[in-house]
Amino acid sequence: VSIRECSINDLIMGVLSFSAAMLRKQKVKVQLHLDPKLPQILADTEKLKQVFVNIIVNAAEAMPSGGNLDITTKQTDDMVIVSLADTGEGISGDDIHRIFDPFFTTKQAGTGLGLSISYQSIKLHGGMIEVDSTPYNGTTFTIKLPVTP
Ligand code: ADP
Ligand code: MG
Repeated sequence: VSIRECSINDLIMGVLSFSAAMLRKQKVKVQLHLDPKLPQILADTEKLKQVFVNIIVNAAEAMPSGGNLDITTKQTDDMVIVSLADTGEGISGDDIHRIFDPFFTTKQAGTGLGLSISYQSIKLHGGMIEVDSTPYNGTTFTIKLPVTP
């Protein structure tokens, strides 16, 4: 495990360039609203990259015929806030309470591990992850990370 100062904006840009071919193929248009004044945070960058990959892959899978993914970063008090909003199929009221449970999946070949691991990673950073979704309309994941854990 290596904890170091990192820029969440740079980390997101890195994950997006790594995912560019997949996003293009899935017809996902990404809109970035990155706060240029965002403070650096102390983080395990490999773990955080995996969290963003998980959420971005889920977003693409929720938009099988394409859509938009809006990624916003900002700061409030001593937290860095990242929100990732897709225009996909959304999550039903029955499922939304279970998506962070290990092995919960609604996919044919899903593992149901991405979000449970992401939840643990964000908790390890002293942060939190929340979801807000409207069926047939889209889903927003919001991640809050302390600037100094
Ligand atoms: P998997 O992707 O293997 O199913 P995850 O833990 O990544 O496992 O996600 C669990 C479940 O949460 C998914 O099967 C899906 O039902 C739901 N989900 C996650 N992200 C989204 C999203 N952006 N839009 C709609 N449903 C989602
Ligand atoms: Mg997944």
